[in-house]
Amino acid sequence: MFLAFPWQPVQAYKYAGYRWGGSFPKVGANTSGLLINAWRTSASDAIGSWNNAGAQFNFYSQDGSANKMGYYYEQSDVLAYAKTYRRYVFSGDIVKAEIYVNNFHNFNPPYTSGAWHDLRTVRRHEYGHWLRLDHSQVQAAVMYYAIPHNTVKNLAADDINGTRYIYGAR
Ligand SMILES: [Zn+2]
Repeated sequence: MFLAFPWQPVQAYKYAGYRWGGSFPKVGANTSGLLINAWRTSASDAIGSWNNAGAQFNFYSQDGSANKMGYYYEQSDVLAYAKTYRRYVFSGDIVKAEIYVNNFHNFNPPYTSGAWHDLRTVRRHEYGHWLRLDHSQVQAAVMYYAIPHNTVKNLAADDINGTRYIYGAR
């Protein structure tokens, strides 16, 4: 499954073309819909990873924020997805974003035996979409399109370069 188009050069991060507005956007993330403390911790860990990437962008926890996290259940390979909303339907800065995790899969936490997916890694990936990073072809990157079972990924240089490109380095 990792052998698609091996003859193409490996591309780095991909900017999807629009972003949160302002010179140093600070975006509240509402984790109050995450009912288990460990799920909230996974979200704040993932937020912290991007905050430490040295870009002029900051997430913070804000329970009243419209930027919500939730769940759904669907028998599919999709682990989670992110949505971003622009000021106008087809133009303008991002004004709202959401993340939905597919509870069909076993996430760690709480699952730590058998085949699980690391929830922090999945959230790091989805927050990367909030920043408007698209999928990278760099396998080590958190923004690679697939996350194997029982694998923890932190931000790679490619992810850090991507967010600094979009928002500027701090
Ligand atoms: Zn993705």
